[in-house]
Amino acid sequence: MADYQKLEAVIGLEIHVQLNTLSKMFCACPNNPEESKPNTNICPTCLGHPGTLPTVNASAVEKMVRVGLALNCHIPKESEFARKSYFYPDLPKGYQITQADKPLCQKGFLVLSNQRKIRIRRIHLEEDTGRLVHDHQQNCSLIDFNRAGVPLMELVTEPDFKNGQEVTEFAQELQMILRYLGVSNADMEKGEMRIEANVSVQPKADPLGSGTKTELKNINSFHAVRMAIDSEIERQRVMISQGEKVTQETRGWNGQQTVLQRKKEEEQEYRYFSEPDLLPIRWTEREIMEIAQSLPELPAAKRSRLSREYQIEQQDIEVLVRDPALASYFEKAASELLSWKKDEKISSEKTSQLMKLLANYLISDLKGLIGSGSIKDLKITPENFAELIILIFQGKIPSRLAKGLLKDMFETGGDPSQIMADQGLAKIDDEKMLQPVVKRIIDNNPQACQDYRQGKTAALQFLIGQLMGETKGAVEPDHARRLIEDQLK
Ligand code: ADP
Ligand code: ZN
Ligand code: MG
Repeated sequence: MADYQKLEAVIGLEIHVQLNTLSKMFCACPNNPEESKPNTNICPTCLGHPGTLPTVNASAVEKMVRVGLALNCHIPKESEFARKSYFYPDLPKGYQITQADKPLCQKGFLVLSNQRKIRIRRIHLEEDTGRLVHDHQQNCSLIDFNRAGVPLMELVTEPDFKNGQEVTEFAQELQMILRYLGVSNADMEKGEMRIEANVSVQPKADPLGSGTKTELKNINSFHAVRMAIDSEIERQRVMISQGEKVTQETRGWNGQQTVLQRKKEEEQEYRYFSEPDLLPIRWTEREIMEIAQSLPELPAAKRSRLSREYQIEQQDIEVLVRDPALASYFEKAASELLSWKKDEKISSEKTSQLMKLLANYLISDLKGLIGSGSIKDLKITPENFAELIILIFQGKIPSRLAKGLLKDMFETGGDPSQIMADQGLAKIDDEKMLQPVVKRIIDNNPQACQDYRQGKTAALQFLIGQLMGETKGAVEPDHARRLIEDQLK
């Protein structure tokens, strides 16, 4: 019997992702996951009719290599497709074209925020299957082949994860990388990204992999994956510490605990062999170099650059990295601010204040106004947004008015100084401009002035209120009090 405390989990992942190519993997049918009418995007090839021949979708291959390079993989000079034979109604050919011992990408890695390196064993290219739709009313199953033959990448990691949190961090980072690369939206809820987690538990002292692993499948959100893994680890730890044996099986998640789906009997024999209808894929050094050079800046690089260039908070950086359109808006506004501060000779300490002000107004206020809308429809130009930040920074607009001004800018797309001038808010703190307003208020309220002179403080409050109302609150209350008292004396 093993000591519960000394039991440690290891987890390895197999992740499938649909690539967003225009056509399918081996035929010219549209690859359209939005198609709702069943069996629309089909042809003899993806239906597996005898005598048809597959043609490789070059764009799918290139997208895969982009993913491989982004994940620090080695791209072997030669890779090839293989047949994996098995029978299932959603697999019309009776075999799946996939890759076996010569995958497109090998031996990569991704580093987690805790600096632990997760090794990627391989990433290969294959075709998706059709979809079975079970009709319980008619008591039959229907098959939709729209998805049959859609390009699918499969990524396999080494068993390097220790818990559910590490797994979801990896999966979310992978999703972000795939989106940056423009190869897939990798939405788990839509089945564009499917995660299978292999979980085993063994005493810390034992060699890695000595525990029996179970496979968690058909879980369709990051949150559920994390919960399922942690709950499965707990289940196995309790079992092993009580002297029970974990059996190899596939388990699902019912929202509370993992549940048995299928016991693993013996290993299926897929009779893999090289696909005779397709040539191997061969790369020159130069072709790989060219793809590598075409990669965009990736999340990890963006994080460190944003931190270096703008010295903003880690959590703000994370918001920007997750939303490249917002990040690009931030950088445009920031570059306005940087050239302004250069002209104004602002110290570097003040500059970092300026950047934090920008990040704050962008992330908490402007992002709130945009809501579920798109930043692409935003009427405020980055230049005008930067101007607003400068006005706030210089104290030309009190922060409690800035939010209202931002809202006006958001609705009209106007520039902040113009809106301030139109609303009589411009240079409102200027004493010369305020004097006539103060005089008018005093002239119009003789009773209040008299009350004030007789020592009624409420009267002064009333006059301050009048002044703040006339200036739409642009004058600070203390300033308003001083102006009125000065005039009354
Ligand atoms: P198998 O031969 O049983 O299919 P593989 O070595 O091919 O196992 O690995 C399949 C997946 O299972 C990989 O994601 C790998 O990281 C993971 N894996 C392998 N051994 C273990 C283990 N002992 N515990 C958890 N996951 C494991
Ligand atoms: Zn087809
Ligand atoms: Mg295996």
